[in-house]
Amino acid sequence: MKNKKSFFNNIFEIYDDTNHITIKFLGIKFHKKRFVSNSDFLKLKQDLESKIEKTLPRTKLKLEIDIVDHCNLNCRGCDHFSPIAKEKFLDIESFKKDIERLSYLTEKGYYLEKFSLLGGEPLLHPEICKLLKITRKALPFANNISIITNAILLPSMGQDFWDTCKENSITIFITKYPIKIDYKKIEEIAANNSVKIDYFNNKEVMKTSYKLPLDPEGKQDARNNFLNCHHANFCIPLKAGRIYTCTVAPSIQHFNEYYNYNLPLTEYDSIDIYKAKSLQEILTFVSRPIPFCSYCKVKERSYGNEWGISKKEIGEWM
Ligand code: SF4
Ligand code: SF4
Repeated sequence: MKNKKSFFNNIFEIYDDTNHITIKFLGIKFHKKRFVSNSDFLKLKQDLESKIEKTLPRTKLKLEIDIVDHCNLNCRGCDHFSPIAKEKFLDIESFKKDIERLSYLTEKGYYLEKFSLLGGEPLLHPEICKLLKITRKALPFANNISIITNAILLPSMGQDFWDTCKENSITIFITKYPIKIDYKKIEEIAANNSVKIDYFNNKEVMKTSYKLPLDPEGKQDARNNFLNCHHANFCIPLKAGRIYTCTVAPSIQHFNEYYNYNLPLTEYDSIDIYKAKSLQEILTFVSRPIPFCSYCKVKERSYGNEWGISKKEIGEWM
């Protein structure tokens, strides 16, 4: 709390005159009439708190890794670009190498708030049991190792899968989509195998769709985008030995390949886990904007749209 306060004082200033309050945060000015309603004030306060949280390095890492690029559902506007990704399964040897380095950086998982295996659809990986065993062996102190799945394949997973989840304390996180799935049956199978099942948000909530448009010319304000982006410093992926602040940047290759674009990803968009000297260096890196932030149109994003299957049209991401 003390750190938060001193950091806070360095980045946050308020100018107050008779008619207006101007708040300067990280060099960006927010101008408001002096007499704001309570609800306006509350909104402003929440907005500022979220921006401060985004730019404060966390104490533990929330990490995820795509073990499969493609998916068996293909949602419109997927932020991993899975509907247009080529079929690809993460290679076991490179996974093992990265997880061992992660084990070193996080003191065997103690400094991992959570570690999720996802995709695409992770249950498509033919060697998922091996990946789960490697993960738990390298990260014995990680409290929260999970698979994030759309649940389509869960009823047909073999006994080996359920035994592996139980023996390695793996939680299965289900995102509920508006498709026909017997969740009750899945819950029964999991309970019979003593495996923990959880649902994203709320058990009753069905997934809607969102649109995260890109600007292929990269003319957006990177810092403003980062501060207003829900993904920034929140969904933190590990990909091929590098860590990014969000899922969009490391998956852009799928967009580039499918539509023949060249939105550039540079070495400054991620941090090399083999070169980083400490976990602190990584936590600080992911709390800052990256050059790729200028390729997102954060102001034009929309949420809560009706969910649907992708038609692979470029307009889903533009
Ligand atoms: S289920 Fe998840 S990974 Fe698959 S397309 Fe939908 S949002 Fe993307
Ligand atoms: S590149 Fe920046 S603005 Fe775009 S999703 Fe990632 S963190 Fe957000």
